[in-house]
Amino acid sequence: MLSSKDLSFWTACASALQPAAQAYIDGRLQDAVDGRQFASICPHTGHTIAMVARCAQADVDLAVSAARRSFEGGDWSRCHPRERKPVLQKLAQLLRDNADELALLDCLDMGKPISDALNIDVPATAALFDWYAEACDKLYDEVAPSGPDALALVTREPVGVVAAVIPWNFPLDMAAWKVAPALAAGNSVLLKPAEQSPLSAIRLAQLASEAGLPDGVLNVLPGYGEEAGQALGLHPDIDCLSFTGSTEIGKRFLAYSAASNMKMVWLECGGKSPNLVFGDCADLDAAARKAAFGICFNQGQVCSASSRLLVENSIHDRFVEKVLTEMAHYQPGNPLDPATRLGSLVDAGHTGRVHGFIEDGVRQGARLLAGGERLRLGDSDCYLQPTLFTGVTPQMRIAREEIFGPVLSVLRFDSEAEAIAMANDSIYGLAAAVWTDQLQRAHRVARALRAGTVSVNTVDALDPGVPFGGCKQSGFGRDLSLHALDKFSQLKTTWISL
Ligand code: NAD
Ligand code: MN
Repeated sequence: MLSSKDLSFWTACASALQPAAQAYIDGRLQDAVDGRQFASICPHTGHTIAMVARCAQADVDLAVSAARRSFEGGDWSRCHPRERKPVLQKLAQLLRDNADELALLDCLDMGKPISDALNIDVPATAALFDWYAEACDKLYDEVAPSGPDALALVTREPVGVVAAVIPWNFPLDMAAWKVAPALAAGNSVLLKPAEQSPLSAIRLAQLASEAGLPDGVLNVLPGYGEEAGQALGLHPDIDCLSFTGSTEIGKRFLAYSAASNMKMVWLECGGKSPNLVFGDCADLDAAARKAAFGICFNQGQVCSASSRLLVENSIHDRFVEKVLTEMAHYQPGNPLDPATRLGSLVDAGHTGRVHGFIEDGVRQGARLLAGGERLRLGDSDCYLQPTLFTGVTPQMRIAREEIFGPVLSVLRFDSEAEAIAMANDSIYGLAAAVWTDQLQRAHRVARALRAGTVSVNTVDALDPGVPFGGCKQSGFGRDLSLHALDKFSQLKTTWISL
């Protein structure tokens, strides 16, 4: 069946598409209060996919009231946890039933290859709702050791109204990473998708209603960061805000919280993840394949992208050859073509920014071994060749700053200690990878790396049941797994004197 979904199939679907593009508040689609809109633009055609409600303060106020009302009403917040399960499961099924449309929305909105959207993003999102659906009625609360004269109960409560502000790189998945655990814990949620990719979030909310989620429990506010995003950050009646995005904007949310009601803030921010390849790694072919994947997947627009490749001197040239061969498999192509592995970047501005990093690398004396060119395909110049620099030194900007594109910086090391020091020399601490066939070295290095996740003999390992998040300026708090529920729950202590 998949084989019949070729480029012409997806092109026809794209031209027939009429996405919902309003805000979703209190169980229905509505225009922005002041009627303003913004264009949702497709980076590979430059066309406007839809004019989208441009939410601002007044819309945020409305949505917060709806969320608060639904929360206090208790249909979701105080129902038996077992009753939340079938709703979230139904939503997971509806996501699968509407996979083509959802995949297309993200593909058109931000340029990811349709095959990735269809085979990775949508199934992973559905699986995540299933996972949290199953968790709803499996969590027990605590009885504290309190002596013979008292009973101390420690119970979890939903925090109340939760806001989620998310980026454009995995629009549907990032929404699910926040919304699924927040709903499972019984909260009412406001979701603000990125202005570059608002459409799948709106569809998600429609499907959630269809699955039986009560009105007001999930609201979607498309709009700009400085408008809708800031209004959420500063709102006095939001209890918790979970953010994924850049470190710069993450810091603003801390300030918004301080300037308003001290709402809890959880941050998943940027990264510059090191991938350490030691000479004792037996399968250098696998390491090279994953190194290429780690910088090319999603056009390199991955927070945990393995963007710094640290290679032991003894294998440097041989290994770089292999990585170049693997990266050549990611040639930019039309995202609607199922054969495409590297799509377009999210928009022209971002493509220019990434290209600016490439020019900077050349200027600072790094050696450009592959790529480097910005390409035009059809009407769009949002394409970049996969790019590899060797001779990168730790002080260069391309070794220090998050590029968020298919640009790999290769650094060399002689000793384990040098590799660890270089890897940790970063303001970020999101993910890291180590390739070695020595068991002790694997554990030793994994312990020494300051990162939320260390993958050994792979890159970027990920699973709904395993926590994901960073340290240092990559943020704090964990998405995925049961730990994510902690962010969206409050502990209540009840003392009973006996
Ligand atoms: P961004 O920080 O510019 O935007 C993220 C969100 O914040 C968007 O919804 C945006 O509208 C909003 N926003 C922007 N300015 C705002 C403001 N002044 N006030 C309130 N809200 C504002 O990031 P981006 O460009 O969309 O995404 C790329 C970044 O996201 C990268 O740095 C990447 O590392 C990070 N990211 C991190 C993770 C993770 O899990 N750690 C995952 C994906 C992306
Ligand atoms: Mn877009």
